[in-house]
Amino acid sequence: MPPSAAALAQTPTAADALAGARRVVVKIGSSLLVDAATRRVTAPWLAALATDLARLRGEGREVIVVSSGSIALGRGRLGAALGARLEDKQAAASVGQSLLMAAWQAAFEPHGLIVGQVLLTRDDTERRRRWLNARATVQSLLAHGVIPVVNENDTVATEEIRYGDNDRLAARAAQLARADLLILLPDVDGLYTADPRGDPSAAHLPHIAA
Ligand code: GLU
Repeated sequence: MPPSAAALAQTPTAADALAGARRVVVKIGSSLLVDAATRRVTAPWLAALATDLARLRGEGREVIVVSSGSIALGRGRLGAALGARLEDKQAAASVGQSLLMAAWQAAFEPHGLIVGQVLLTRDDTERRRRWLNARATVQSLLAHGVIPVVNENDTVATEEIRYGDNDRLAARAAQLARADLLILLPDVDGLYTADPRGDPSAAHLPHIAA
């Protein structure tokens, strides 16, 4: 059943959530970051996002980015010859990850901000020693004013140890960093009961009560 107008009026807005958040994780999907036609970084969009994130930093918040895009960028650079096997995807990620980090550093450079690459596999967040180690690294990066840019370690992550998608990785990164807020920036405008691109009956869910 859709929420009543009164319930919606009491629903915290994104601005409310952001107001109290000191440490924020922002997840960006490949489809926003990589142009589907050219398979290159959508640099003007990324520059605008970096300006917004730098503003959050200016307000005294800490920012952690979870960024997809390595596989799409690597495929763009290696071209059609690359197959669809796991190791081909991993090769694409290997090439694309450095392109991705270069794009993030270039976007934050005008704001005087430094990025640090953090590559994780599911194991890193499920084994206590590795979890603590990753947490300490992220804390140190933040303490030095660096913006951690997290992605799955696709070059070594096989099916058994993969998160598989960066929404899950972002949720774990938010826990790892003890973040106050996780923002997912996907290519759909919210959560639906089904995929709105294929199902006309899909209903938008503006709020899910905890
Ligand atoms: N780690 C993958 C990449 O960087 C993306 C996975 C996802 O977007 O869910 O290409």
